[in-house]
Amino acid sequence: LYLVDYHVHTKRCGHASGADREFVEAAIQKGLKEIGFSDHIPRFYEPDNGKRITERGMPRSDIDEYVDSVIKLKTEYQEILVKLGLEADYAPGWEEALLPLVESYPWDYISGAVHFIPEWDYGYISHYKDRDPAEIFAAYFNLVAAAAESKLFDILAHIDLPRRFFPRLSAPEMNELYQMLAIRLGKTGTIVELNTFGVRSSKQSDVGVFPDEPLLRFCRQQGLNVTIGSDAHSPKDVGADFDRATRLLTTVGYNRIVTFSSREPGLVKWQSENT
Ligand SMILES: [Zn+2]
Ligand SMILES: [Zn+2]
Repeated sequence: LYLVDYHVHTKRCGHASGADREFVEAAIQKGLKEIGFSDHIPRFYEPDNGKRITERGMPRSDIDEYVDSVIKLKTEYQEILVKLGLEADYAPGWEEALLPLVESYPWDYISGAVHFIPEWDYGYISHYKDRDPAEIFAAYFNLVAAAAESKLFDILAHIDLPRRFFPRLSAPEMNELYQMLAIRLGKTGTIVELNTFGVRSSKQSDVGVFPDEPLLRFCRQQGLNVTIGSDAHSPKDVGADFDRATRLLTTVGYNRIVTFSSREPGLVKWQSENT
């Protein structure tokens, strides 16, 4: 198999553990062909109206050392490809603050992620408990689509993350939202991440992989390609539940996944050893 884990955090973000090297060692143990670090970007947005903020990123003073550490691991390991990525929040209106971070380092890819609804506040979506899930899903998907349309990102992470905390709407309602999202994403040609975090961290039962299978089917209908990430916050979770991800790839009909080098995408057949 040619599998990659493109969503791995480091202790710099403050809510992960383990040495960088241990993530690489874990990926080798699991037989992965590539491991991509994509730690949380330092906070680049400063809403001025006292809105709630949930700090998730590495301190800005850590980013040079983060990049250096990953680049060192790239040359040190011959048995696996190590990629330098970043998980960047999508915060409309703050593009000018984001761009210097994106342009100043030799990233292999930038993953765009929605963790909050800036119109409401900048706190993690899990606290929107007083809101109607229909409103949360609609707002979230709108931001994910806008993130793709911004062309700031190479990959979109966990595109239906609210499922981690909020129950699905009825199938017809969900499908309508899914289809609208997939159509907007399809026009951008963005890469969609299969993220296995939901399998092990869900607050709801049966959340499975992000995206939900019906959503992934719509994405495939729109011609979108995919990559894979575990969202590991500790070395033991590198490649976690990738059997679920590959089963989903097979079910939906994806023979190939996307890899990145220097922000250039490439397609590999994941069932074979070589490309
Ligand atoms: Zn995190
Ligand atoms: Zn994330």
